[in-house]
Amino acid sequence: MKKVLLLRCGEIFLKGKNKAFFENKLIENIKKALEGLEYTFIRTQNRYYVEDYEEWLQDEFVDRLTKVFGLTSLSIATKIKSEYELMGQAVQELVPQGNASFRVSVTRADKRLDKNSMQIAAMMGGYCLDKNPMLKVDLHKPQVEIFVDIREKGYSYVFSGKIPCAGGMPVGTAGRGMLLLSGGFDSPVAGWRMARRGMEIYAIHYHSYPHTSELAKQKVVDLAQKLTKYCGNIKLFVVPFTDIQQKIHQYCRADYMITVMRRIMLDIAERTAVKYGCGALITGESLAQVASQTTESITVTNNAVNVLPIFRPLIGMDKNEIMDTAKAIDTYATSELPYEDCCTVFLPKYPVIKPSIQVAVKEQSRIVNLEESISEAIENVEVISLSPLN
Ligand code: ATP
Ligand code: MG
Repeated sequence: MKKVLLLRCGEIFLKGKNKAFFENKLIENIKKALEGLEYTFIRTQNRYYVEDYEEWLQDEFVDRLTKVFGLTSLSIATKIKSEYELMGQAVQELVPQGNASFRVSVTRADKRLDKNSMQIAAMMGGYCLDKNPMLKVDLHKPQVEIFVDIREKGYSYVFSGKIPCAGGMPVGTAGRGMLLLSGGFDSPVAGWRMARRGMEIYAIHYHSYPHTSELAKQKVVDLAQKLTKYCGNIKLFVVPFTDIQQKIHQYCRADYMITVMRRIMLDIAERTAVKYGCGALITGESLAQVASQTTESITVTNNAVNVLPIFRPLIGMDKNEIMDTAKAIDTYATSELPYEDCCTVFLPKYPVIKPSIQVAVKEQSRIVNLEESISEAIENVEVISLSPLN
């Protein structure tokens, strides 16, 4: 019997006057995610079907679709003509073993059939019991629920169970954000979280070659590549940061080095974001995780940005929760690789925990020709365009 995929989307964004905008974006993203595969796409009210694919590729379809933001769940369904006998056979394929409890639920859009949905459900229950007489009907809390969805045009879909998808909003419906992407665990998760709210993601990475190796940069490219599975195309900006880091080391008070460095990072990120049409900056900061992530430190780094909001989706999350997400989205193993981040080069032993804006501004102003160095770094940025590797 022919298998198809039934896709469901969050109904929140399918209401109201922007429905077409969200829906078109979602469908565009589904098609992008399935690029290179052959199938038929069918759109009905609030549901989509992927049909006519090679069955041996089904896992690949499911893997890609579960990562599309905006889809809430999918089911592998059997598509048949709306004839009772065929429905019965399809239902029997889903019958559990042993003495499980079950129910069959029927929805009927095709009013031409001579039985109503209750009668059809009872009939389908009979098919189940024929196949496995040990089953018990339980209409309230069944262990297995089998659905028969009888559509208008003479076809029905039979399925059981839902595979959860990534949820959220379709990427591209909430503008574009510039993610400050390090090689750590946190920032890839932060980017994923904002993409899940519909943001298209660009990423910026500060690289202190030769103090940090080519491998450290490759690690960040790999992380961004992994994110494309969820976020779609990502532009990654790699900023040469060695000169600026050396200057910070040379001119600034040791305990303020990280504070000044983070201010300059955000400044460069904002300038690049504005240039490339991003409406927000995104970081992987989590309150109190390290000295540079206290409320006071965040106040002082915020102060280096002029206009754009800084989104910190992990601010209230524990490290464990962040790690769990990193595992679920498959960035964990890459983040775990040991290559040094530019932050760890020239690290002072005792960074200030409660910096003040005045001191930070003063320390930053000690850096000779900082503006030239910033312009030079921005001029020499390397732009890497990444797409999902299907
Ligand atoms: P992560 O695990 O994301 O590296 P972290 O716990 O190491 O975070 P910090 O080093 O204080 O924390 O960095 C805080 C945030 O600053 C990061 O989440 C990231 O958004 C940004 N960041 C740090 N280093 C870099 C870098 N080399 N390039 C770009 N962004 C960076
Ligand atoms: Mg880091």
